[in-house]
Amino acid sequence: MPTRPQKRMTSQRRIILEELLKSGMHPTADELFLTVRERIPRISLGTVYRNLRSLAEDGRVRPLSDGSRMRFDGNLREHYHIRCLNCGTLDDLPAAAVKGLNESPERWSSYRIIGYKIEFVGFCPNCINASPEVSIEEEMLSDFKRCR
Ligand SMILES: [Zn+2]
Ligand SMILES: [Zn+2]
Repeated sequence: MPTRPQKRMTSQRRIILEELLKSGMHPTADELFLTVRERIPRISLGTVYRNLRSLAEDGRVRPLSDGSRMRFDGNLREHYHIRCLNCGTLDDLPAAAVKGLNESPERWSSYRIIGYKIEFVGFCPNCINASPEVSIEEEMLSDFKRCR
């Protein structure tokens, strides 16, 4: 069977990366599979997943764990995330939106801190517009600190 796996792999990787960057979102492998399939009709979900994993190993994409699912981020600049509690949309928030967060938290503990994870939660513009009185149960917020 004549194959050129390396070349095919490269162009698949390129298309997967292009689609991820184009989405501007943080798709799961399943979500990205649907858009990649429009360009490579015979690609399988497993192939998309394997390519995403190798792109992550190469530092070309950032894997984000989202509870039980894995999302992928093509934005490699320092930034934070904001999640809609209604529809689950995960958007980028530029690092400048969170000034002062880097101010030595080591002052407050004896840990040697090497990094942090932070995610903001709220309601996206679509959900606010669709239902201005969008609200959530208190227990949904139990994992999150409320802003004041
Ligand atoms: Zn939303
Ligand atoms: Zn992001």
